Amino acid sequence: MKIFQCGHCNASVFFENNSCDTCGHLTGYRATDHKMLTFAPDIAALISDREHTEYKYCKNKEYNVCNWVLEKHDPEDYCSACQLNRTIPNLSNTASDNFENWQHLEIAKHRLVYQLQKIGLPLRSKLQDEDGLCFDFVSKKDNPSLMTGHANGVVTILIREGNSVLREQARKDMVEPYRTLVGHLRHEVGHYYWERLVRHHPKVLKDFRAIFGNEETDYSEALQTYYKTGAPKDWQDSYISEYATSHPWEDWAETWAHYLHIMEMVETAYFFRVNVNPKFKTRALKTKVSFDPYTKKNFDAILHKCVPLSLAVNSINRAMGIPDVYPFVISPPIIEKLKFIHQLLLYKRK
Ligand SMILES: [Zn+2]
Ligand SMILES: [Zn+2]
Ligand SMILES: [Zn+2]
Repeated sequence: MKIFQCGHCNASVFFENNSCDTCGHLTGYRATDHKMLTFAPDIAALISDREHTEYKYCKNKEYNVCNWVLEKHDPEDYCSACQLNRTIPNLSNTASDNFENWQHLEIAKHRLVYQLQKIGLPLRSKLQDEDGLCFDFVSKKDNPSLMTGHANGVVTILIREGNSVLREQARKDMVEPYRTLVGHLRHEVGHYYWERLVRHHPKVLKDFRAIFGNEETDYSEALQTYYKTGAPKDWQDSYISEYATSHPWEDWAETWAHYLHIMEMVETAYFFRVNVNPKFKTRALKTKVSFDPYTKKNFDAILHKCVPLSLAVNSINRAMGIPDVYPFVISPPIIEKLKFIHQLLLYKRK
């Protein structure tokens, strides 16, 4: 994630800010060029500090779940991230934690959309385009058969995942090292982009099968077997997670999510100019993040930054008694899978 600069006082502002902490000017994210705009707080119209152009907030600002802006005369009421919402939780039930869970989901979704737009991936709302993407944030209470997943451009997320206690319980039950909202979203959207970028492209599909295996293997049978027998003992040699062993589609979605994790870690480090230079000179632990990974062709260069970075951040987390930021091992076969995704996205980039 980038860090941004206030157009009024030049202080740093952050992605979820509603105003500048230093001067109090209002902030609004403009997705078309990934910039944060600022506005004088004491006038009714939203006139940007730098360009003196009039904007309006996304309609979801009313619920305090979005700080994105659209041009004043844009016919849309919702920003490009909120246009993707097909179902949001029932907010009339004030006794439930639906609203709070939705807020958490929106933070994760906006970060996801930021990243997809930064990569330059096609991103249209399914409400406007049959091949597009949409989100259903739903409760099992409305329909017990609902599950988190993806089908046909619809990403369904159970809103209970927004509750950190229930999510941690699910993580323990599933024996997962990591379970987050942004992780769910990155995984599920991976299935959508497999459909868009791989399925109907014979050359890409052939290369996909050579690396991830043949996805024509019966999916529900494969999942049943996985839930019965678990992952093979040596899964870490070739897979990023146990679940990735279940079927090539899941391997793709898990690896895709990790690709997005890595890009966001390195981009954030770049914007903070993180320099890891340990006191005891260990070459493998030394790094300076001097480039934006989204502009980098060479994936090895990106990955090399990741190891020292995650070791440094893991150590800070351990100092605070919280879990490691990146509790995964990336083996050479996983690097090949990540590179496949990187190459594919480089090609797709605008
Ligand atoms: Zn300011
Ligand atoms: Zn919005
Ligand atoms: Zn999946």
